[in-house]
Amino acid sequence: MVLRVFRWSPGSRERLQKYWVKARHGMTVLDALVELQRNSDATLAFRYACRVGMCGSCAMVVNGRERWACRTLLSNLARGPVTVRPLYQFPLIRDLVVDMAPMKNKMLEMKAVFVPGRRAMAGDEFAQIGSRSRERRAIDAAIECIGCGMCVSACTMVGHDPRFPGPAALTRVFTLQRDSRDGAHAGRSLAVLAEDVLTRCHGQANCTAVCPMEISPTDSILALRRRAVLRLLGIGPR
Ligand code: SF4
Repeated sequence: MVLRVFRWSPGSRERLQKYWVKARHGMTVLDALVELQRNSDATLAFRYACRVGMCGSCAMVVNGRERWACRTLLSNLARGPVTVRPLYQFPLIRDLVVDMAPMKNKMLEMKAVFVPGRRAMAGDEFAQIGSRSRERRAIDAAIECIGCGMCVSACTMVGHDPRFPGPAALTRVFTLQRDSRDGAHAGRSLAVLAEDVLTRCHGQANCTAVCPMEISPTDSILALRRRAVLRLLGIGPR
């Protein structure tokens, strides 16, 4: 099987390099890259950690779609050469490795960090939200975000407007705004009202289509919008 892998390093030109891999039963894109690196080209750079679909660090674009390489079977891809390139929207470091810092910075800009509020503690213990409570069920899916960046890569608005926080940061904001233990709701509510935040999302749902955790950042953004409207009307939570 032919793999066409994106290559670039500082000072060189971008190119797709062809490699030949003997595809075995059950072989994933990550298996193929590891084999290439070990046996054919030790200079090929890519990132991975858990290899079992938990950490999201092997996120890349395979045949034009964001996927995690460790869960993408070669046999499930269309016949013909397999093209592998790095995530879009992130600065390149080398080959398939991108710099994830912009996504983290967007989260910090949006204050998407837990701030303990008055209800954070229950006596000497950290307060817990029951797994079956309404509050928990509302964010059940969204808290599974592993920060892989696939949604950011697939988002056309991230590419169009550098001030748009992107689907991952807004999903994190959504979970925090629904967390009764958090004490920074008011500040985040103001942050999401900025011009390039909630109104920028056009609801294309590319983020939702590619999320490996089956989260819908689109729904998170819509929920934040509803909350913002109710707040502006003076009838919603902060
Ligand atoms: S929302 Fe999904 S695609 Fe986006 S960073 Fe989280 S896990 Fe990855």
